[in-house]
Amino acid sequence: MDHIPYSCQAIEQADIDAVVSVLRAPFLTQGPEVVAFEQAFARAHQVPHAVAVSNATAALHLACVALGVGPGSLVWTSPNSFLASANCALYCGGDIDFVDIDPSTRNMSAAHLAAKLVAADRLGRLPHVVIPVDFAGLPADLAEIRSLADRYGFKILEDASHATGASYRHNPIGSGFADATVFSFHAVKIVTTAEGGVVTTHDPVLARKLELLRSHGMTRNPDEMDVKDEGAWYYEQQVLGFNYRLTDIQAALGRSQLARLDAMHAARVALADRYDRLLEGLPLRLPARLADRISAWHLYVVELLPEARLSRAEVFAGLRSAGIGVNVHYIPIHIQPYYRRLGFAPGQFPHAENYYAHAISLPLFPKMTEDQQDRVVSALRGLV
Ligand SMILES: *Cc1c(COP(=O)(O)O)cnc(C)c1O
Repeated sequence: MDHIPYSCQAIEQADIDAVVSVLRAPFLTQGPEVVAFEQAFARAHQVPHAVAVSNATAALHLACVALGVGPGSLVWTSPNSFLASANCALYCGGDIDFVDIDPSTRNMSAAHLAAKLVAADRLGRLPHVVIPVDFAGLPADLAEIRSLADRYGFKILEDASHATGASYRHNPIGSGFADATVFSFHAVKIVTTAEGGVVTTHDPVLARKLELLRSHGMTRNPDEMDVKDEGAWYYEQQVLGFNYRLTDIQAALGRSQLARLDAMHAARVALADRYDRLLEGLPLRLPARLADRISAWHLYVVELLPEARLSRAEVFAGLRSAGIGVNVHYIPIHIQPYYRRLGFAPGQFPHAENYYAHAISLPLFPKMTEDQQDRVVSALRGLV
């Protein structure tokens, strides 16, 4: 039987042609294709600035630096995320803490956030940045988090690595609510550049900081220099930056993929709707549906309910041996050995831990066929 992967990129001839044409062009990296991709991404997300970088981990790192995270600053994120959502604070010398999830959305709970802010305010230890994650592509409670940000003075850095194409209250993710929003273009994500990421923001000062930081902190703009008339060769380093540039090869792939975002999203929505129908009545908790937001459907995660016949490990192994590429997203970050050595311990964020104990991500990708989906459903039905 053919193997069904849990995710698979959708590469078309147009993508191949776009990449090949860059290989024949004068610029291979950080040239006109990067600018064109940034402009196309910003337009599609109804936001004035999009800064492209080498991957979303770099994007999170730079956004933390640009938002002022440094030694002594506190950053909070969701424990139900990929490691990078928390590591970015530590790269800057900041301290990390977590806010437990809402079990129905699997996203950071706005109620837990509000309660933790009250306690932190009393201790004089408020976060500088909060990083909500749009888990599986479902937007976080952005309006509630925005009003808490305005009240307590923290910045919102949204990790929308799963959420390209998602929308919240009829606005594309990345267009508002957050101070900066990060997207990933890793091969398993919604739109791919193989490796790549972007930060969107409304703030032109923040966008310019990100541009400087991604390329060594160097500027060739006389307005930003200490010395003005040195000569045409002249550049200045004004801040400590990195080499986090995206290549033109990748940007061309990204722009070509972005042109098909609506069609790829529609295919994911149709498959998710079909999973909902086919899995109804089984002892599974299905993904939440909320009237005010549309998921990008990066992942379709089911949780086994207590009535399920077999354990999560048995169901997982059964699906894998049937050639079905299931996965688990995510092992809570705070129980990783590295984070335990920082002082975190199991039991601290029980909703994320309980969710993790029962979760399985089913295959979902734009080119998945109904036959493949039927195979997943019948294998799962047999096991639960
Ligand atoms: C994939 C992912 C990242 C990191 O993305 P890269 O582009 O691989 O660096 C960060 N956060 C979340 C939630 C992710 O899923």
